[in-house]
Amino acid sequence: MFIPRFIFSLLFLTLPLAVLGQNATVNLAGASAGSAEETKSGPKLEHFDPTLVDKELNPCDDFYKYACNKWLTANPIPPDQVYWSTGSGLELWNENVERETLEASSKNDSKRSAVQQKIGDYWTACMDESGIEAAGVKPLQPELERIGALTSKKEITLEIARLHHLFPGAWEQSDNQTNSPFFGFTGQQDYDDASKVVAQIDQGGLSLPGRDYYIKTDEKSVETLKKYGAHVRKMFVLAGEKEAQASSDADVVIELETALARAQMDNVKRRDPKNVNNKMSLAEIRALMPSIDWDGYLKGVKAPASDHYIVTSPDFFRAEEKLLVEHPLEHWKTYMRWQVIHGAAPFLTKAMDDENFDFFARTLAGQERQLPRWRRCTRAADRDLGEALGQAYVDRAFTPESKARTLEMVHGIEQAMQDDIQTVTWMTPATKEQAIVKLKGIEDKIGYPSHWRDYSSVKITRESYLANMGQASAFEFERWVAKVGKPVDRGEWTMTPPTINAYYDPQLNTINFPAGILQPPFFEKGMDDSVNYGAIGMVIGHELTHGFDDQGRKFDAHGNLRDWWTAEDAKQYDERGKCISDEYTQEVPEAGPGVKQNGLLTQGEDTADNGGNHLALNALEAELKKQGKSLDDKGQDGWTYRQRFFLSFANSWCSNIRPEVARLIVTTNPHSLPIFRVDNVVSNMPEFAQAFGCKAGQKMVRANACRVW
Ligand SMILES: [Zn+2]
Repeated sequence: MFIPRFIFSLLFLTLPLAVLGQNATVNLAGASAGSAEETKSGPKLEHFDPTLVDKELNPCDDFYKYACNKWLTANPIPPDQVYWSTGSGLELWNENVERETLEASSKNDSKRSAVQQKIGDYWTACMDESGIEAAGVKPLQPELERIGALTSKKEITLEIARLHHLFPGAWEQSDNQTNSPFFGFTGQQDYDDASKVVAQIDQGGLSLPGRDYYIKTDEKSVETLKKYGAHVRKMFVLAGEKEAQASSDADVVIELETALARAQMDNVKRRDPKNVNNKMSLAEIRALMPSIDWDGYLKGVKAPASDHYIVTSPDFFRAEEKLLVEHPLEHWKTYMRWQVIHGAAPFLTKAMDDENFDFFARTLAGQERQLPRWRRCTRAADRDLGEALGQAYVDRAFTPESKARTLEMVHGIEQAMQDDIQTVTWMTPATKEQAIVKLKGIEDKIGYPSHWRDYSSVKITRESYLANMGQASAFEFERWVAKVGKPVDRGEWTMTPPTINAYYDPQLNTINFPAGILQPPFFEKGMDDSVNYGAIGMVIGHELTHGFDDQGRKFDAHGNLRDWWTAEDAKQYDERGKCISDEYTQEVPEAGPGVKQNGLLTQGEDTADNGGNHLALNALEAELKKQGKSLDDKGQDGWTYRQRFFLSFANSWCSNIRPEVARLIVTTNPHSLPIFRVDNVVSNMPEFAQAFGCKAGQKMVRANACRVW
């Protein structure tokens, strides 16, 4: 799930629903608790299998290929996917469990619980393709007519408030970027005082995945923007416009969105919380953007009074104000009609859904075919009613034993972090002491929330998928806004239980591992420790390291943006961080010729990958010691535990990925592609060279190896 704040997650594929018809993440889990046999279609879960190693290849030359090559060859990307990884079987497995819950809940009998009624009727309406087809674009008409009837720019404000309720785009976001019309609005913890929730106004307004898509001038980017224009035109036609009108309307949309993109703070600058922590009073906001009736907007979204407001990028609002003044009302009406059509497309007729898919999934991400309807409806239900649907998943797929074992691993890895902080030579005792206070302040959340979200105010019927989605979106939007001025709810999660992902929340200072990822191939009860530490252990270490990466280190134990580093220690940190960002500023042939990764965008994730691996390996070593074993003892199949650790790590990242989506990720996403998440990490580690006997001069032994944690 995607909220406009700093959340550091594990995986790269968190694309908005409008892009992939889902919020996709990746990876595994297995029959650790529930069992795959419980599900009807029993999708195949991947299990760690060292016989998949390609012994024709040299592990010291390209470890990812060595560990993954056979799997990659045997597992091409299905036409309805944009990537296919060892975790994809788990994704399907989790969705099967959810589907069975949804189907069972959809039977219209009076014995259903309130939760079953919501998820069952949501499912029924979503699966009713003929009903959706018969309604045509009629459900859109009231929205389009209301926009058409606006007679002055003053009236735009209330329409914005309405749009912000209507579609998930208003609150769903991908990697710290909202695609909310005009701008984003939500409640969030104050940067300087994390015990307070204040209102935040964020830049937004785009429909493409990021500002680069509008402003880059290379041939491929120009061509993509042109295709986007053609898509907008086609969508206007499908919504009932004549060709000539649709064509000029598309030009207006491109012009306005491009201007908004130019005004946006870029995604590297946004990574530094100091750059977005701009406090303003309401009077200052009124003066910043007088074309918006802010009092009317706040009333329209039922926002409680806020101590102050965080305006993430004042320059964006200055530019948007200028655009509001310069462009005629008709242009803004066109922009708003587009936002409605675009936001509703995945919930409407086949023609609109297909056209939306054709551009946002096929052209932008390379997906050849739509996912089957059931998978799209399952993902939509997970997004809209996730904590209702997730309850049954936890019951069926996540045991108390799995939770206890995970927690033990988390504690071991936290101890490894403490030992690391205490032994590094570049930090002074004063800063080390502060770091340990922060580490001890981290709260570990495993599996699912301690109390479930109450959806009783969300009206769900069997009649209209679009209306249900609108209800759920409004609920979620208002839920965030209503937090303003209230005490922080520390128990809340921002991912649903079946999600295959994990995150660190710097303002709550929590690490969070949904039940969905605590499954094979990430975590498996029957596997030895070396395998589990290489896969889920690395994930745990990754999230823990986020608390101490170049962004996370700026927050203290209480989640406040406060500099607890001495100047000298900060300098030492930055030198090590720069080693990482320089290393990952690299060519990415997987995404196309000439495509280059920006190591400044991915620095935090890359730091977490490297640190996570060290911590997991050190924790494994300590665990083995307790059992009277060492890393270099032979485990099963003739491999040492050290080797099994690295093989399991690489195995959990094996992914075939389409070049289109690779390009999308490199352009907009803070995570590196899987091959680099493996090869760059191991090439920085003498412990890896030791495992496979790699020598200086070989590719997996980097001359200037980087190490932060
Ligand atoms: Zn991460």
